[in-house]
Amino acid sequence: MRLHKRKSSGIRTRVNPRLHGSDEARALHKEAPAIDMHADPLLWNRFVGYDLNKRHSPPLPRAALGGHVDVPRLHEGGVGAMFFGLVALPGMDRKPSRTCEKQLDALYDAAEASNKRLFVATSAEDVQRAHREGSVAALLGIEGAHSLEGKLETLEHFARRGVRYLGLLHFSANACGAPALGLGSDKSKGLTKFGQDTVKLCEDLGVIVDLAHINRKGFFDACALATKPMIVSHTGLAGVHDIWRNIDDEQLRAVANTGGIAGVIFVPEFLGRDGLDAVVDHLLHIVNVAGEDAPALGSDWDGFVRPIRGLEEVNKLPDLTDAMLARGVKPSVVRKILRENALRVLREVPPRVA
Ligand SMILES: [Zn+2]
Repeated sequence: MRLHKRKSSGIRTRVNPRLHGSDEARALHKEAPAIDMHADPLLWNRFVGYDLNKRHSPPLPRAALGGHVDVPRLHEGGVGAMFFGLVALPGMDRKPSRTCEKQLDALYDAAEASNKRLFVATSAEDVQRAHREGSVAALLGIEGAHSLEGKLETLEHFARRGVRYLGLLHFSANACGAPALGLGSDKSKGLTKFGQDTVKLCEDLGVIVDLAHINRKGFFDACALATKPMIVSHTGLAGVHDIWRNIDDEQLRAVANTGGIAGVIFVPEFLGRDGLDAVVDHLLHIVNVAGEDAPALGSDWDGFVRPIRGLEEVNKLPDLTDAMLARGVKPSVVRKILRENALRVLREVPPRVA
């Protein structure tokens, strides 16, 4: 992060050649360390014993699908906070809540072993404290309400353990509703009674409702119930690239009207093309349709996906900031995209459990 002047030539060189981004981009990350709304390194921890505290370079051998994130590279990438997904796979995990619990324990263990380089955060204040103390805040989000196993008490339990968002759906229908695509997808199906109760309890507990992966009908049903900001943690925009997983402009306005945000995913299949500018296209579309308080980042790193060229690993994030600046995005808006919008949602939906 630090720069020094080489006395002999006067040429500015980086102390650490691993650092990405221009001086301007790095300065922006210093003021506004990024908040990533969704990444899945806990899956790799689970399946291959991936050590979050060790620097992996290059990412896992021959595995473009993972190894994108670890604590050293989060620091190098100017990231201030990341939502770690807790994911149980339907058909494979018979006790999805237990699977989530184990991943949650693994994150607490990693934070404990990190020498204060990572800590488990639950509030906007925690995220700000991480910034002051030079640490990275690890936030927790459950991907898919199948992990509640049909019981609202499970949500209360996870809220007490620090979970800050609940994605209502993942790749299979569950007690809350139907997915945009996957097992049991059904366009006519909206939010169930249990889904409505889940949304209400989320709001009571201060757990943010995440609308990634839910079908269109369920999406609007949930937004209609919102009294607090909701999010789409990782998504592309159908207004730029129209495919099943991306939200359209009407959905985007609906979530923005709750005071919420949409995190742009870093995966070429959802963006419609490869490269940093593809991410910027989707971010700018959000700005154009829903205003500058709506866009955020939702990488989906380590989610069994191949990230776009230029963001293959988290330490490259300042290069995206340069791509935004090159497209004429004002620094004040870049700061909102990197951090401030996500921080506002965390502040407006504070955890309500001890
Ligand atoms: Zn996902």
